[in-house]
Amino acid sequence: MPWPGRTIMHVDMDAFFASVEQRDNPSLRGKPVLVGGASKRGVVAAASYESRKFGCRSAMPMAQALRLCPHAIVLKGRHGKYGEVSKVVFEVLRTFTPDVQPISVDEAFMEMTGAMHLYEKKWGNRGIETLEKIGASIRKQIREAVDLPASVGISGNKFLAKLSSDLAKPDGLKIFDPRSAERELAPLPVGVIYGLGPKTQARLHQLQIKTIGELRSFGEERLVSRFGEQARDWLRLSRGEDTRPVRLEREQKSIGKERTFFDNIADPDELRSLLLGFTEEVARSLREDKLTCRGITLKLRLGDFSTFTRSAALEAPTDSTKVLWAAASGLLTKWLNERRGALRLMGISLHGLSSEEQLGLFESLPEITKLESKSGKQAKVDKATDAIVQKFGRGSIKRGGSLREE
Ligand SMILES: [Mg+2]
Repeated sequence: MPWPGRTIMHVDMDAFFASVEQRDNPSLRGKPVLVGGASKRGVVAAASYESRKFGCRSAMPMAQALRLCPHAIVLKGRHGKYGEVSKVVFEVLRTFTPDVQPISVDEAFMEMTGAMHLYEKKWGNRGIETLEKIGASIRKQIREAVDLPASVGISGNKFLAKLSSDLAKPDGLKIFDPRSAERELAPLPVGVIYGLGPKTQARLHQLQIKTIGELRSFGEERLVSRFGEQARDWLRLSRGEDTRPVRLEREQKSIGKERTFFDNIADPDELRSLLLGFTEEVARSLREDKLTCRGITLKLRLGDFSTFTRSAALEAPTDSTKVLWAAASGLLTKWLNERRGALRLMGISLHGLSSEEQLGLFESLPEITKLESKSGKQAKVDKATDAIVQKFGRGSIKRGGSLREE
């Protein structure tokens, strides 16, 4: 019965934004609720479980969700409110262990390995029984603190913990004994493996590989010859192996780039080309650290030291140079139209950083990958550029517009 060696938990609020709305407005309870952009190009940020019966999912275009469920109630959402609730949830989590890695406002990994002996002592039982108590206690305390459902997955690593909370949804607890991972993973679809998108899944299906068990028995070298080195990662995950550590929030660095100019610069073209260079650099750091960001801030300082910041939120998390540049150049153009004056300093910073793990394995992977595949060509450009920079150093390659920086 006892397993606790390495123990990781994944806590994920269920349909978070939609659940907050249903909690605060009883007339929404039991009804399909979609929180997100109501415009034509809007995206669903959260879909209540009532709407999921119709196929609605988070990260799906709102127009598509409304075709599936025309009577859904669409709400713009109250992001300040969600932030407050999230703070309380994280306070609860940190009473169980200080080692909490937020993945998004409503999702976190918790490193429990070091704390296990305390809980075993406290409750007088060992291993899995203790985990059941901790999991139930976390869910109960979240419920008491914010009156919302949370799902908890507990296992021996991040991959299995996240998979477990997905399987536990909605409003459940699943403990996945890593010792039986090999057997329990075998019948699951290959799509649950992180990083394995719909296009790759289709290619695997053509090879008669539909389940994790079939993936494993296809043979490592045969897979690598067809799909490259990434196939080795899939196979590790397919055996339930994942050594990624739980990273604490304080270790997460912010990404930014700013420069004070030798001579103040007023020329819009020159500012644009400098900003493009900055954008390329921060986007590259983002990809190097396997992070995405949700927002961008431009900092501008005039010759008289007055300082301005302009921020933009992005529709979906991204690591694409092109998407970031569209946002950054938009901010600069708007500012230049608003006021004039030579700049002494310009900078760009990225916020809302998160690691790729936040993609839901079951609930949102196909939709998110669909969004990504639109910019698939751009991702290839980014990848090729990163490879050249790694080999020949910064300055070896720049997109057209930033050539003027030299
Ligand atoms: Mg969630």
